[in-house]
Amino acid sequence: MIDLHSHTTESDGTTAPGELVEMAVGIGLEALAITDHDTFDGYEAAAPEACRAGLDLICGIELSTKYHGRTVHMLAYFLEAPPSDAFRAWIEAMLASRRERNRRLVHNLNEAGVDVSLGEVEAMGRRLTGRPHFARLLMRKGYVGSVEEAFKRYLGEDAPSFVERDSPDIEEALDVVAASGGISVIAHPIRLGIRERAREEEFVCRLAGAGLRGIEVWHSDQTATDSERYLGYARRHSLIPTGGTDFHGGNKPGLLLGTGRNQNVSVPRSVLDNMRAMAMPGARQ
Ligand code: AMP
Ligand code: ZN
Ligand code: FE
Ligand code: FE
Repeated sequence: MIDLHSHTTESDGTTAPGELVEMAVGIGLEALAITDHDTFDGYEAAAPEACRAGLDLICGIELSTKYHGRTVHMLAYFLEAPPSDAFRAWIEAMLASRRERNRRLVHNLNEAGVDVSLGEVEAMGRRLTGRPHFARLLMRKGYVGSVEEAFKRYLGEDAPSFVERDSPDIEEALDVVAASGGISVIAHPIRLGIRERAREEEFVCRLAGAGLRGIEVWHSDQTATDSERYLGYARRHSLIPTGGTDFHGGNKPGLLLGTGRNQNVSVPRSVLDNMRAMAMPGARQ
């Protein structure tokens, strides 16, 4: 069993990097990818621990991108290590636009009569502050009873105080990742929210034409039927099938590392072997 999608306290998870490695070893994971949003700090903190424990730890990152007005999450794996200065600068720009979004979100929340400050919400996280940190703060201050309610009333796209984050176009992300030696994988395609199957496949097909290399076939938000469909897309558009739980600790309650929600995720080791072989055809295994 492996898990190729997880978050630590360096982004918006609640499990510290070292603790996540311990957890992975404890449940017998053969490989773990840390894919924090916009930062490698979690991976870098976990790497020595993983080395000591003999865990195959993979460096990844999750990026928010835009495609024709839609938000698309992209996972990038196997970037050259250490990542180039150009790649780091690109990530820094993303962190800056996130900070700007947070400033505006605090402003809108204040206007709505919610007493929160930027300092308070930033203290909830480490390297970056995401909406899950806002949600926890709103819960702690008694404005909402759950993370879901926080997104519904204040933070989500349909809430009046919602602020859109400035993010790069998907084509730009595909190019930057490829130039840094990495492979791009579309994360949780179910969340594209494209109901009509033909349109969904057409969308994935267009991304494949623009340099997408893989698709997250197995994910905690996807049913077995979804996974079967996405495996079909992978085959028809020459994409590498990948999978992971998107573990966030307490920020996604009921979702376990390695196995997802009620054991709805089970990613075999061969997926990673295949990814490595397809992503680095000349590389020794
Ligand atoms: P951000 O990157 O700061 O815009 O926050 C996005 C994160 O918020 C995503 O990675 C999700 O984990 C989380 N999120 C988005 N929508 C919801 C929701 N409706 N309920 C719970 N978590 C959500
Ligand atoms: Zn997250
Ligand atoms: Fe995501
Ligand atoms: Fe994620």
